[in-house]
Amino acid sequence: MIRVDEKLILRGGHMLFCTYIYEGQECVGIIDDNKQKVFDMKELFVKLGIAPPKDMIELIAMKSDDLIEDMEQLCDIASGIPMEEVRLTSPIPHPIRNVFCLGKNYHDHIKELAGKRIDSTGDIPEYPIYFTKAVSTITGPMDDVVMDRSVTTKVDYEVELVIIIGKDGKDIEVEDVYDHIFGYSIGNDFSARDLQANHRQWLKGKSLDTFCAMGPWIVHKCAIKDPHTLDIRCKVNGEVRQSSNTQYMIFDIPYIVSDLSKGLELRAGDIIFTGTPSGVGLGFDPPRFLKDGDVVECEIEGIGSFINTIKEV
Ligand code: MG
Repeated sequence: MIRVDEKLILRGGHMLFCTYIYEGQECVGIIDDNKQKVFDMKELFVKLGIAPPKDMIELIAMKSDDLIEDMEQLCDIASGIPMEEVRLTSPIPHPIRNVFCLGKNYHDHIKELAGKRIDSTGDIPEYPIYFTKAVSTITGPMDDVVMDRSVTTKVDYEVELVIIIGKDGKDIEVEDVYDHIFGYSIGNDFSARDLQANHRQWLKGKSLDTFCAMGPWIVHKCAIKDPHTLDIRCKVNGEVRQSSNTQYMIFDIPYIVSDLSKGLELRAGDIIFTGTPSGVGLGFDPPRFLKDGDVVECEIEGIGSFINTIKEV
């Protein structure tokens, strides 16, 4: 029997999973390969005679390769909703716990931060540097990012490849990691550099409301043959600031997931930001932090792109 992953690769399916608002309701959907329509997951499940998942995390936790295949076929005959009629939210708008993140996972980014207040050493880490962003930071791919000037004046951007865990696991072996991944998304790890430096610990500077932008959807892992070959870019007002490739990660995806899962159970729906390449605002001399009205676009090859606008309050 051919596995669903193989079938989808054969037919070139993209399998884009999203969360969206339509007529005031938050829904989970699949987007067609041309990105013209979104199909309501609830409707597809009802057609299959199965109770629909209430959100993206429930869908991911169903681990339903066969169901996904059935849904793809149903999409061929369902009418769908035109994309312009929905508003995409973060694909996982309500994470089960804090977002896991890696710091300093690209050589060129370490170089640009050397000597700065948040990292004076410039050393290549021997072990992955983990930190988290609070659940409440999550914001969507079409939303404003709020910059409260009474709290921070040094807001920065960081485009990152995001791993979505698909299956619970602890002490996951490196060779089993891809079995535990559902798919990939794009993140912008917005960071208040002044708070990172002042508090000597990154949690607060990384956890202001709206500081974890994610989207525009999750691409199922079967559509990304190798997640370590993807061009990754961030533009501010159309100017390319970050431009790299995921091949330059210091710790790769099998290593990260396996290492993080040692003594720490990863759960379906967990979100892991894999670090950012060089070109962040802090890396410039003088630094180029974000200001009111700036438009920040994050893009990763094979996944898509999204835009946030900075809103000062
Ligand atoms: Mg980061």
